[in-house]
Amino acid sequence: MLQNCLLKDFESINPLKISINKQEQLLSFDGILHRHDGVLLLELETNPVKQNSNFFSFYHQTKSSIDQIQRASTLEQMSQVVVEEIRKVTGFDRVMIYRFDPQGAGVVTAEDKEDRLNSWLGLHYPAFDIPLEARELFILNPLRFIPDVEQLPTPLVPLTNPLTQRSLDLGKAILRSASFCHLEYLQNMGVKASMTISLIRDRQLWGLIACHHYSSSKHLTYEARTICEFLGQIMSLELGTKADYEDREYKIKLQSLQPEFVQCLTQADNLLTGLVQSSSNLLQLVSASGVAICWNNELTLIGQTPQLASVQALLTWLEPQISNHIFQTHELPKLYPPAASFQASASGVLALAISQNRKSYILWFRPEVTQTVNWSGDPQQNATSGGSEVRLSPRKSFELWQEIVRSTALPWKACELEAVADLRSVIVGVVLRQADELARINVELERTNDELDAFAYIASHDLKEPLRGIHNYSSFLIEDYADLLNEEGVAKLQTLMRLTQRMEDLINSLLHFSRLGRIELLLKDTDLNQIISQVESVVKISQPDTPIAIHLPRSLPTIYCDPVQVNELFTNLISNAIKYNDQPEKQVEIGYLTGAELLKQNPFCEISSAVLVLYVRDNGIGIREKHLDSIFRIFKRLHGQAHYGGGTGVGLTISKKIVERHGGKIWVESTYGLGSTFYFTLAG
Ligand code: ADP
Repeated sequence: MLQNCLLKDFESINPLKISINKQEQLLSFDGILHRHDGVLLLELETNPVKQNSNFFSFYHQTKSSIDQIQRASTLEQMSQVVVEEIRKVTGFDRVMIYRFDPQGAGVVTAEDKEDRLNSWLGLHYPAFDIPLEARELFILNPLRFIPDVEQLPTPLVPLTNPLTQRSLDLGKAILRSASFCHLEYLQNMGVKASMTISLIRDRQLWGLIACHHYSSSKHLTYEARTICEFLGQIMSLELGTKADYEDREYKIKLQSLQPEFVQCLTQADNLLTGLVQSSSNLLQLVSASGVAICWNNELTLIGQTPQLASVQALLTWLEPQISNHIFQTHELPKLYPPAASFQASASGVLALAISQNRKSYILWFRPEVTQTVNWSGDPQQNATSGGSEVRLSPRKSFELWQEIVRSTALPWKACELEAVADLRSVIVGVVLRQADELARINVELERTNDELDAFAYIASHDLKEPLRGIHNYSSFLIEDYADLLNEEGVAKLQTLMRLTQRMEDLINSLLHFSRLGRIELLLKDTDLNQIISQVESVVKISQPDTPIAIHLPRSLPTIYCDPVQVNELFTNLISNAIKYNDQPEKQVEIGYLTGAELLKQNPFCEISSAVLVLYVRDNGIGIREKHLDSIFRIFKRLHGQAHYGGGTGVGLTISKKIVERHGGKIWVESTYGLGSTFYFTLAG
């Protein structure tokens, strides 16, 4: 019979049903044949249970398990199905799946067990828990079975194979004894019987299905073992698909966040607000637990991060290390020792430079791995053998593993780095679009301004002529027909003339204003003291009877500007300071401050500290707060024509235009009844 087997595929004939008559007693065995190293080995296992092992019973037992395995949509679900099915087939007290990481350390990812046992789900093991030789054996021999860890090994007889003169290689034998070390390891955990099935992906050991029995030794039939091995193979085959699927799912999830970013960032008032509003997406994008946004050198922290000062210091260290906009590590304390003080929250960091010039970065943080481990139950309770003999136990392994992975975080995945690079494109895209939009609006504004100036110019020109006509006719009427008209008629004509005169003044102001926008600035170094003395003499000559005191606390600087326009600017402001003034002596102070000096007086002032701020201060009537902005609008006057010498309401509009054409800004501070100060800059 055995000779016949030599021609066949062993898998298809195993197990051979072998009966041996021993002292009138029929002993039945499962004979398991395998060929290895040029030798045919027959192992005999007692098989007390009479089993009808045919293809159909095997098919029935495995079909539903396979269906469930294939239906599971995630690796996690599949793992759970496998541990439950294997436990159903074998009756082991505990069935688990270990998964190895690229460094060889393992974690329990699925478990089915007796209720009374504590869970080991989420426990991690260091790589050396399963030595390299053992891993190679696991690949060679996908199922290892130890029915009784206490069983003493039986020596081979004879020790040397008389045919080959070599010792027998039992690498693929099922009945061979396990290594002393491994048996001790199992005994330390209180395990009486164990079985491991290899999970192999791309010819590498991906993980193990590990079965433990604590209550007694455990015998499993060849058929039961075959089913388990078969389920292990099915799971191995499915690993690729499920893992790829999960990866794909994760990638799709990451990609799906990008349009949300675009929406959030484009709708927000500014990019920083947009990023802060998308903080949960930001964290999800790379499965981080904290994020720091550094925008124009200003830091915002979200979630679990180091302290502000630590992030600032980290950024300074990190900036020169960023290449291609990204820096990443999952072992920060090894590269940057100060990180040891915050390794719990940030052993891993992923930095994205949006703009190094503008000091705009996003930093994601990952905590130390040990902080994220799911530690459920205390496996120590299951370790039976105490005392100094305990070499390895799940608890001990876990502690060792913790030591090894201290100050490291989970590594950043390639797809996460891609997602971050995509986010940069999104942000840069939004910034560029906003800049484009701004440029477009500016061009549009410029065009509208030009058109408006041209319109005002043409309109005022065209209006002037008929207006002059009306004025002249009214004047003729009064001169030539005054005798024919009664008093009321003359008064009406005089009003008509006054109104046309006023209209002409308005039109002239408008014309002047529109011309201002059309003429080129003639910039040159200009001594402001000279300008003031010119303005002072003109103002004083035009109002010889008014006591005016113009005072300069310190000599004014020389600045680069258009002297004609700046002269007009000072003329407007000084005239107003005198005009809107009830005091017997009209006092005007003209001076300057640096931005820094002004900020000291008023910290809320939006001004850069380096800029020069000029001012014209008076002791006049002051302006109510509600009018402070509107007085710069064209034709806006706060008083009737009969008061304060009248006016067209264009002076301040012209002043504002002059200031803005020089790249500066103008504003006023005032105390009603006490006086006003007009501040302005002539550069940004
Ligand atoms: P106007 O030709 O009427 O003087 P402006 O544009 O120069 O036109 O000023 C607009 C209004 O702002 C004035 O009508 C006046 O009410 C107010 N105003 C301007 N300067 C001062 C000042 N120094 N003190 C008080 N009110 C002022």
